[in-house]
Amino acid sequence: ALTTGIVGLPNVGKSTLFNAITQAGAESANYPFCTIDPNVGVVDVPDERLHRLAAMIQPQRVVPASFQFVDIAGLVKGASKGEGLGNKFLSHIREVDAIIHVVRCFEDENITHVAGQVDPASDIETINLELVLADLETVEKRIDRVQRQKKSGDKQAIAEYEVLVRLQAVLAEGRPARAAGLDQEEKHIIKSLNLLTMKNVLYAANVSEEEMARADKNPYVQTVKRIAAGEGAGVVTISAQVEAEIAELEGEERELFLQELGLETSGLDRLISAAYGLLGLITYFTAGEKEVRAWTIREGTKAPQAAGVIHSDFERGFIRAEVVGYDDLIACGSLGAAREKGLLRLEGKDYIVNDGDIMNFRFAV
Ligand code: GDP
Repeated sequence: ALTTGIVGLPNVGKSTLFNAITQAGAESANYPFCTIDPNVGVVDVPDERLHRLAAMIQPQRVVPASFQFVDIAGLVKGASKGEGLGNKFLSHIREVDAIIHVVRCFEDENITHVAGQVDPASDIETINLELVLADLETVEKRIDRVQRQKKSGDKQAIAEYEVLVRLQAVLAEGRPARAAGLDQEEKHIIKSLNLLTMKNVLYAANVSEEEMARADKNPYVQTVKRIAAGEGAGVVTISAQVEAEIAELEGEERELFLQELGLETSGLDRLISAAYGLLGLITYFTAGEKEVRAWTIREGTKAPQAAGVIHSDFERGFIRAEVVGYDDLIACGSLGAAREKGLLRLEGKDYIVNDGDIMNFRFAV
């Protein structure tokens, strides 16, 4: 499953946020495995379309798409040199598909700030520098190896060396690998290095409950937004503490509480949607009387690979797919009506699945 890692300095609200996530996820009975690893949380991806499809088809079961978070505690100054959990911590980050960086934007004199005061710019720099230093070490080690291979005239090594040297220059300036402006092919060449600062980042500005309604005017939040804009990263403003409270409520109680706070959706929902977008993910649906279900794929995925998300047999034995666009289906009111109107298309193995497509796969085993 695609995974987002939650990072940040100590005492910024990571565990609080993570607990809110697992609490919300615990309501979903579809993921019994989420209790196995205490550092992994699974949440449903909020999607209005799934509910509209379910209302139309009235299936026995409705299954939303899910999204995985990992709590990566232990990043402190000096981690790249082995301080704190150091390298172990960094190897956890290496495995995730994207990063949510929690930044403390709340003041509370009872809660110690590791650097002595609330200072988002300095906090962000501390974390990013550790990641950059770790990457710099990875890149330099690799340069050593490739340099030797290069001498024997190995073409691949020569190409890789060029990319590595560019990365080294960017990292040595304290900038993330993302900023090197590599194209798809170059990214592919260094993919196996799993560079930490190549991953997309979403900043979560953690504000206090009182600041929630006017977070846009909060100078700490403005700082985070400015830094994020400079890096091409996204920002979600959230109050981890409020999320933890919201997560404990259900149904009407929850709606009322959100209204009281002047919010339309919980911050968690916004965070999940933002993380989904960050990973370049889209959703397709399968819709039958037994089950209406949302499936997650990367943008640009072709029909057989999309089918493979359901089962590898579907991909291997893929023949074709019967497809109807979400808006078309909703406009028709039923699959039968869509078929009569000729809006159910047959697509082959080169079809690129669109966000919201309702798919019915035909395959041979
Ligand atoms: P972590 O070390 O980053 O995982 O931080 P925690 O989630 O353990 O939070 C550290 C402390 O800050 C805890 O006592 C939380 O209750 C508190 N905390 C987290 N978010 C907020 C917030 O939005 N406002 C206030 N006042 N306290 C918070």
